[in-house]
Amino acid sequence: MHYISTRGAAPVLNFAEAMMTGLARDGGLYVPQTIPQMTPEDIAALEGLSYEEAAFRVMQPFVAESFTETELREAIARAYAGFRHAARAPLVQLAPGHFLLELFHGPTLAFKDFAMQLIGQLFQIALAREDRRITIVGATSGDTGSAAIEAFRGLPNVDVFILFPHDRVSEVQRRQMTTPGEANVHALAIDGTFDDGQARLKDLFNDHAFRDEVGLAGVNSINWARVLAQVVYYFTSAVSLGAPHRKVSFTVPTGNFGDIFAGTIARAMGLPVDRLVVATNQNDILDRALSGGEYRVGRVQPSISPSMDIQVSSNFERALFYAHDGDGRAVAQLMDELKTSGGFNIAQGALEHLREIYDSGRVSETETLAAIARIRAETGEIVCPHSAVGIDVAQRHVKTGTPMITLATAHPAKFPDAVEQAIGLRPDLPPHMARLFDLPERVTQVENDNEALKSLILQRRSA
Ligand SMILES: *Cc1c(COP(=O)(O)O)cnc(C)c1O
Repeated sequence: MHYISTRGAAPVLNFAEAMMTGLARDGGLYVPQTIPQMTPEDIAALEGLSYEEAAFRVMQPFVAESFTETELREAIARAYAGFRHAARAPLVQLAPGHFLLELFHGPTLAFKDFAMQLIGQLFQIALAREDRRITIVGATSGDTGSAAIEAFRGLPNVDVFILFPHDRVSEVQRRQMTTPGEANVHALAIDGTFDDGQARLKDLFNDHAFRDEVGLAGVNSINWARVLAQVVYYFTSAVSLGAPHRKVSFTVPTGNFGDIFAGTIARAMGLPVDRLVVATNQNDILDRALSGGEYRVGRVQPSISPSMDIQVSSNFERALFYAHDGDGRAVAQLMDELKTSGGFNIAQGALEHLREIYDSGRVSETETLAAIARIRAETGEIVCPHSAVGIDVAQRHVKTGTPMITLATAHPAKFPDAVEQAIGLRPDLPPHMARLFDLPERVTQVENDNEALKSLILQRRSA
């Protein structure tokens, strides 16, 4: 399987290379040159399998030249062994025809663990083979950082630097990043927003001399391997509800478009998906783009669902690439326009293509709080604010005869302030995290400046 850049001007790579590289050298994102297909029989055969076996069958064709079947099976087994639910991604029913896919049973209580735990294992195999050192730098709105640190802490040959927006992550998120004591973990509080962190990260990747000097590797949601790991639970949940014999729809609380793009890949592989519904908070660039056709960056407004406080939604570039029939030059042009003028209009044909796949909706802060309270009253479930955004949008899109699956992206205890504001109760952290508030924190403040960041990384990384 070959991987090509959405901007059409970077080297073609295999899976392991694309995973270790992250961002392509032309500034684009890697996508598979062709999408492997699963027949209705292949999909039906997933029923009743362990999550791990289903993961192996869905992912194997994408990684075949880079990892042996044994390596992949072992990586998957180790990745999900620490999850605290036998089903890994269990479904809970909310209402007739509406289901919640719980993706928060991993070690850091957010769906990011599904991908990050797996790529931690795959990086280890690939690095041991090549005897290389790498420096992982990631930007986070909170959950990617904690999941990455959890996956890479203490690994030989890896330093992990995580940039999080100072004072804009929840205390649980911050402590998950600042309390690991391993010397290869570096939590950096950047003076800015998530979009600033992501912009600095892109600058580092586009500085080819620096990139080569430190062996820069990216694990942000632009990393193809992360998207791939997330494709699996679209299959397992749909099969539980009757696929391939009936269609299902998904609603996904969305920020950087990584999770919902995984659904797009599942659909392209042959999963009968009716609608993929993008749910945003008040940072609604995607809802505006899909409904009005103009992708225009606004200012990030901090919300009670902070993991979605994003204006530049990186993985949307992948959707644009497919909407433009794989025309990398057209995508590069749009991305140039985005950089120089802060937005672009989506061409009519591309917009129609996107609307064949996606619906969208936006949820305000008050609606989010009301949804948390309503869901508790109607079902007894306590949900995190991101999941509440998803459920609220999903309720507007449920259709009789087609099950709707909303992705529950984090555990409510990760966002206790928002939950308390909604229902007057603070959800408890699971027992394995009870010590989080007693451990000492380690964090370095860094300016929103490339040179400052580069010298800090050079000075801190283990040589
Ligand atoms: C990361 C995250 C999201 C957004 O996912 P994307 O892949 O960036 O769209 C939503 N909810 C939670 C809890 C997250 O951590």
